[in-house]
Amino acid sequence: MTLVPRIRARGPIVSTARQNCGLWRRTALTPSFPIPGNEANRLRALGDYDIMDSLPEQAYDDFAKLASAICNTPIALITLLDDHRQWFKANVGLDASETPRSQAFCTHSIMNPDEVMTVEDATLDQRFASNPLVTSDPHIRFYAGAPLVTPTGEALGTICVIDREPRKLTATQVEALRILSREIVVQLELRHSIATLERAVLDQEQYVECLQEYQRDMERVRTNLEELSVTDVLTGVQNRRSFDRKLDEECARAERYGTVCSLLMIDIDHFKALNDDFSHAVGDENLRAVSQLLQSELRAQDSLFRYGGEEFAAILPGTTLKGAFVIGERFRRIVQRAPWRRRAITVSIGAASMDENMKSPRDLLQDADRALYHAKQHGRNRVSTTTDCT
Ligand code: GH3
Ligand code: MG
Ligand code: MG
Repeated sequence: MTLVPRIRARGPIVSTARQNCGLWRRTALTPSFPIPGNEANRLRALGDYDIMDSLPEQAYDDFAKLASAICNTPIALITLLDDHRQWFKANVGLDASETPRSQAFCTHSIMNPDEVMTVEDATLDQRFASNPLVTSDPHIRFYAGAPLVTPTGEALGTICVIDREPRKLTATQVEALRILSREIVVQLELRHSIATLERAVLDQEQYVECLQEYQRDMERVRTNLEELSVTDVLTGVQNRRSFDRKLDEECARAERYGTVCSLLMIDIDHFKALNDDFSHAVGDENLRAVSQLLQSELRAQDSLFRYGGEEFAAILPGTTLKGAFVIGERFRRIVQRAPWRRRAITVSIGAASMDENMKSPRDLLQDADRALYHAKQHGRNRVSTTTDCT
């Protein structure tokens, strides 16, 4: 066999066959084979089927075997013609996977898509007598090819049968080839539809994945926004908004379960003077430092908030007024004892607790404020409770 598998010869090939067709290309610069009038569409359609150089598939192999059996030929092929070669999608009896298009009998078959082209003896046909496939291996004598015509009229290739002896087909065999060619196109269409569907499913999966990623992004943004909306930017502790919510929650809980809840209002002493003497930036720095000190003394169940300005609040669920005083003292001490760089900083603290007479969180807040005022009035750097105010 002299066929060269996987030839990609795109160069000009001068035909030695007599030019007996109006579509023969006549110069050495153009292909030496007939080209259908709808060649551009035909190549586009072939590309759409995405079948050239695909792996063998049982259905096509079976069609080729059937053609060989029905026509009783040693060779049967399903050929597809691109711009420069014929490639075999299925192959019975030929030891090659493709040939140059210039040598392909099928390139003549596709010129008449409605006909089964029959060459009874290639040596007697001026188109093929000097064809290398006739003059040497595989020594083709007989050829019959039924074009594979798409629903839009493009002949992509053929189902063809080949023999090394001259011969004829019966009308029934010719009709069988015609039927097989139609069935192969149905198979091609099916294959194309499946590939399109698979692509659509893949696209949809990717789309769903994108959507899920987008949702995760949105969730992250929402969480960040939520955190931002409850956090004080300067100190990083919870802000006034979350204080109001938390105080309502904890007072309601204490009322429901008959437990206690205490509140500390913590105000930095003479903070205005610190700002005035050292700048607002130094004031900010010290505000952050105080918040960190208070946080370091916070128990797991307690929460610290920046209530506003240089004022903090601590909600102490399940803590009595006495307990709140102790926690307040810890806060006061840690601030007083911190190694302040410019000027000693102290805080005054007012402590109040929910009792059975208390009507609302607002009452608790007012009580704590009153206690804080008491602490300010009685020398600052101290913790006062509501009992001190009576
Ligand atoms: P007192 O001991 O009575 O609490 O005196 P004070 O100076 O701390 O209280 P006052 O209410 O007179 O002043 C509070 C100061 O806190 C005034 C304001 O400029 C300052 N302040 C409030 N918020 C901020 C802030 O975010 N950064 C800085 N640097 N200063 C702030
Ligand atoms: Mg103050
Ligand atoms: Mg204040």
